[in-house]
Amino acid sequence: MKQLRIPGPTPCPDEVLNAMAKPMINHRGEEFGQILSEVTAKLKQLFQTKGDVLLLTASGTGGLEAAIVNTLSPGDKVLSAPIGVFGERFTAIAKGFGAEVIPLRVEWGKAADVDAIRRALNAEPKIKAVMVTHNETSTGVTNDLESISSVVKEFDKLLLVDAVSSLGSITLPVDDWHCDVVVTGSQKGWMAPPGLTMVSVSQEAWRAYSTAKMPHFYWDLAKAKSYLEKGQTPWTPAVSIVFALSVSLEMMLREGLANIIARHARVGNATRNGVKSLGLSLFAEESHASNTVTSVAASDGLDTKKMLRILRKEHGIVLSGGQQTLDGRIFRIGHLGWVTEGDIEAVISALKVVLPQAGFRS
Ligand SMILES: *Cc1c(COP(=O)(O)O)cnc(C)c1O
Repeated sequence: MKQLRIPGPTPCPDEVLNAMAKPMINHRGEEFGQILSEVTAKLKQLFQTKGDVLLLTASGTGGLEAAIVNTLSPGDKVLSAPIGVFGERFTAIAKGFGAEVIPLRVEWGKAADVDAIRRALNAEPKIKAVMVTHNETSTGVTNDLESISSVVKEFDKLLLVDAVSSLGSITLPVDDWHCDVVVTGSQKGWMAPPGLTMVSVSQEAWRAYSTAKMPHFYWDLAKAKSYLEKGQTPWTPAVSIVFALSVSLEMMLREGLANIIARHARVGNATRNGVKSLGLSLFAEESHASNTVTSVAASDGLDTKKMLRILRKEHGIVLSGGQQTLDGRIFRIGHLGWVTEGDIEAVISALKVVLPQAGFRS
């Protein structure tokens, strides 16, 4: 058995995996309708929203595209604050569908600059929406979404949030923080396999939907809502992943959202302390270090590729490298979903052995 410690896909409990061995059922029948409405009700509790939550068959990126094409029109001015690979992807989708994107970048490893967002909104009154990543998985940084949201709502703009690697693991009360569209994915903190994206939609977002002209067919959120009302999805869903998610959501509600969030905070702390105890330094600014993924700088001769290979082959532990320009410069430890402090202790103990074998001189 390998210990999969990457920031998604994450390990799944046996009960969750076993749920997928159930025979297929009619996705337009009563039984599926019952499961879909239960899953939706549980998701609403964990999103902390009274608004709509829709289940789409896709990885997280499909949900990000849905958030954009259902609320915006070509030519709309949008403020985007990318702080890493996933923020850049969100930005690229909006650009690809014809939005006029104003990017507000920071050095990778840092959080979005809330004052800069305020200045940008002040400078350009025509901005329609603000796009932000709650937890940037590529750099291990969690943005201060509560403050960002309060600025965005001061200006009465639409707020689109990529919460793929935070929702269900890090505090994000969707309604209290006035987030209009929030996107997450089954393979991150939800302890389920990849295949579903879950998207919340506020009343303001539905108002934006009514005038949105970006092309969409498969990702039509109003269609998803109207089918949900009869216990269905517009298109054949990933039925087995819905079975799995139904079980994992049950487990999450049994543990309780506050306990899950506290566990992620403890595990995040243990990871950061463990990494520092080995003489390594964190890549993310510590004030905004993520409780779901820790990024570690490859310093003092450390060959990350060699380290990842030895960890995998000799210790059965799978960690992630860096993406794009961070390739070889950092490595990442995923700690979201089904994870305990004991899992992280095992990772730190293995790192202690492997680091010197991979060139690290502390
Ligand atoms: C994983 C992830 C995504 C989505 O990636 P998919 O491979 O499409 O599931 C988007 N944003 C963030 C922050 C992520 O961590």
